[in-house]
Amino acid sequence: MINYARPLLRLLELLEKLPGIGPRSAERIAFYLLRTPKEDARQLAQAIADVKERLHFCEVCFNLSERPRCEICQDAARDPSILCVVEEPKDVLAIEKTGAFRGLYHVLLGAIAPLEGIGPELLKIDELLHRLSNGAIQEVVIATDADKDGETTAAYLAKLLRERPIKLTRLASGIPVGSHLEYADQATLARALEGRREL
Ligand SMILES: [Zn+2]
Repeated sequence: MINYARPLLRLLELLEKLPGIGPRSAERIAFYLLRTPKEDARQLAQAIADVKERLHFCEVCFNLSERPRCEICQDAARDPSILCVVEEPKDVLAIEKTGAFRGLYHVLLGAIAPLEGIGPELLKIDELLHRLSNGAIQEVVIATDADKDGETTAAYLAKLLRERPIKLTRLASGIPVGSHLEYADQATLARALEGRREL
């Protein structure tokens, strides 16, 4: 049977491992790359190498950072008594854009998704409990997405943290049900933060 040349097969195999990319999309991307000028393809490869080499997760909050600790964790002007818990680094960015939050963050690096086999042990929850144990944090704002996994995660965290002497809040409605934080417009997100309700 005639098949694609080996370098192309290798590229297809790697592309298919990416989230949301099936065999057809992989083929489309591979042929796009074959047509594209060599320099553009090289830049793409370099950009992938750079994010892996230069970006890390902050050792405290798991936001993306070029240093061991991210800029937010290093910023003495932030309020260390309030912690906003989000799913992904992109959610930090979305909330930062509103300018409505001056506390610190904790990124879970995902959400509990039983159907995909993602349990709490795969998230940065132990690290969250560790951060809460020194008593400096007085309020935890749970800002996971308003979709099923986000709500499951919020409920899990609420149960876990209920016994602690910490004020627990959840983003107010206004974030459309079923939606991801990153898609909420800045005004809606700022309102949801201001109107956060106690759990
Ligand atoms: Zn950090």
